[in-house]
Amino acid sequence: MMPETVSALIALGGNIGDVAGAMQSALGRLHAEPGMSVVSVSPIYSTPPWGITEQPRFLNACAEVETSIPPHVLLQRVLAAERGAGRRRLRRWGPRTLDIDILAYGDQAIESPTLTVPHPRMFERAFVLVPLADIAGERVIGGRRVSDALSALDTSGIIRTDDLLSLPRAA
Ligand code: ATP
Ligand code: CA
Ligand code: CA
Repeated sequence: MMPETVSALIALGGNIGDVAGAMQSALGRLHAEPGMSVVSVSPIYSTPPWGITEQPRFLNACAEVETSIPPHVLLQRVLAAERGAGRRRLRRWGPRTLDIDILAYGDQAIESPTLTVPHPRMFERAFVLVPLADIAGERVIGGRRVSDALSALDTSGIIRTDDLLSLPRAA
């Protein structure tokens, strides 16, 4: 029998090295884990740096994952996928090869020392909501519809690239 699954939404971003390649291999790695399938991916956007503005532009994308694993296990897996992409934590919001944030896990609200869902800063970030709206514009997260939340943000400087992520094949 299929265990119950939820739809989780994740955001991917980075600004060091081959970020599109790192995103693609992280998605492949997540998809290969038991109890997880990547079911949709957004286009990749080039975006201005946020928080610390004196650093290279980022690439950002979002993906939807159907999963039967609990949220904290999902977090462990996304952190492992970041490490697999060579992530070193240097300074908060600074340059990184790959960052993966859990935006939503079904419609659950989670507040723990290591995991807050919905992601507390997602609604201030056009670099998250632009790609998210491509795959989940109608989704209501924390009481807000993604496309409505996006329309309140400044999207200047966010440019869709021609790079495409592909859906990983079943392992
Ligand atoms: P921001 O969270 O503002 O986007 P960041 O992604 O640069 O900043 P990180 O250094 O990647 O921050 O993450 C620090 C910690 O945040 C992680 O180790 C994780 O425990 C915690 N965390 C809390 N909520 C989430 C979430 N929804 N998704 C991913 N990590 C989270
Ligand atoms: Ca982040
Ligand atoms: Ca993060």
